[in-house]
Amino acid sequence: MSSVHRYKLGQISKVTLAFFSMTILFQNCSNQGFDSVNTINPTIAGTVVTPTNPTTPPVPPVTPPTSNPPPTQNPPATDGNLLGCTTAADCKKKEQDAQLILGQTNQTTATNCFADKSSNACLFFKNPVASKGSLFPTVANNSMDLSSYQNFAVNLDPASYEVATGCLKNSTYRIRTDITWTATTVTVNDACFPGLDFKVPYRNDTTFRLAAVMAHHYLNFQKTFMLNWTGHWYSSGKNIEVLSYIAKPSYDNNAAFSGDTATGSGLIFMGGFKTNINPVGALQETALSAEVYLHEAGHGNVFFAANAIEDHTKNIACGSSGKSLCCDTYKGCFRAINEGLADYHALIMFPKNTAIGESLVNNVDGFLEGTLRRNYSKLGALLPQEVYSSPAGTVVDGEIHILGRIWGSIWYEARLAANSQIGARGVRSIDKVFSAHLAALTGDDDFLSACQKSIALANSTDGGLVAAILTAECARRGF
Ligand SMILES: [Zn+2]
Repeated sequence: MSSVHRYKLGQISKVTLAFFSMTILFQNCSNQGFDSVNTINPTIAGTVVTPTNPTTPPVPPVTPPTSNPPPTQNPPATDGNLLGCTTAADCKKKEQDAQLILGQTNQTTATNCFADKSSNACLFFKNPVASKGSLFPTVANNSMDLSSYQNFAVNLDPASYEVATGCLKNSTYRIRTDITWTATTVTVNDACFPGLDFKVPYRNDTTFRLAAVMAHHYLNFQKTFMLNWTGHWYSSGKNIEVLSYIAKPSYDNNAAFSGDTATGSGLIFMGGFKTNINPVGALQETALSAEVYLHEAGHGNVFFAANAIEDHTKNIACGSSGKSLCCDTYKGCFRAINEGLADYHALIMFPKNTAIGESLVNNVDGFLEGTLRRNYSKLGALLPQEVYSSPAGTVVDGEIHILGRIWGSIWYEARLAANSQIGARGVRSIDKVFSAHLAALTGDDDFLSACQKSIALANSTDGGLVAAILTAECARRGF
């Protein structure tokens, strides 16, 4: 039932060349092993390069937190936590509100999803660790049986897939699987589920089918939610190819978005996490972690919102990659803003579960870059000066993924403040301003100018409801 499409590598390369190579999940800034720069070399068609790691500089002292207290880390396995709910009654009400906003009143949860006749897909809530509610004894991988943790029971939105074939594609996302890559040709297949049975138990999963269903549901859910919640989803209708698992070593331990200015479309690539984790070759597909591709989709959202920004005047080359993957000062640059806003895209969906990558590395605080893990509940006190120069142990000054935490944290902390001071209305107003600011960014922006633009937008949104909150949060970081 699946259709096969072949790409000449030159076409992939063309996509890559059209934008600033690829927007990747990591730079070479980790001491935990997932540190390769998996980006297509723009000068060689389809070739993937992996630079060596520069020396790690000394670690600066870390300032104690002075930020808003972190939210309670007990996300209900429902949509309720999309709105930052705290109590059962609060969650019920906000879930009803969210379902109204989303138009997804068909979502359910089940203790045994596979026996639940009211759902047609059994997912991990966010990722295997979040769904389980605790770490695994060792990093989970596809040689294990994790099906008992697939407790997020959903009905995939029939508008999101091709009903006649069960293929997971629509005008915004096309999920691909069974991907093989030779020296000259990439072969991909649509992910299709005849009979519309999307329930795939993750049990010795060597065909990566659950990865496809996970990617499909969360990406489309994000698109629908953001469009209804904030009024914008800029990549709607852009026919983005989603390669849900690439069995190619160069894509191990990473994920990427690549925009194509020539076709007005884009690609999301996902590999599997292996290095230092599963030495015998087993893996955990990146696509099992929703927050990772919600981040990548965030890059896509700003790519289409801001007309594919290509000039990055405050970016500089750094490390061994020779690419513009650092900012010239602690005040930031577009690419750091891009990394932070990409993380915030994931935080909007999982506001009480703020780690990025916790299942892939089996650590509740997510990815380790330098000495900083990527968990926004613990980054509220971060100042840009602290993380710019020898940023917390990373390998180069001003690396965009680490410095970018400042931008993600400004929005996350503003969201927490809006929730405590105003409630759900304030949270929504913050997200509306966030969504609007994507279209106002340019390649010349740094944190200060992006703050100024965002505050101006906040003044003109909902009667200036959250303008003071955003102003205060920017000021607290020095902008
Ligand atoms: Zn990124």
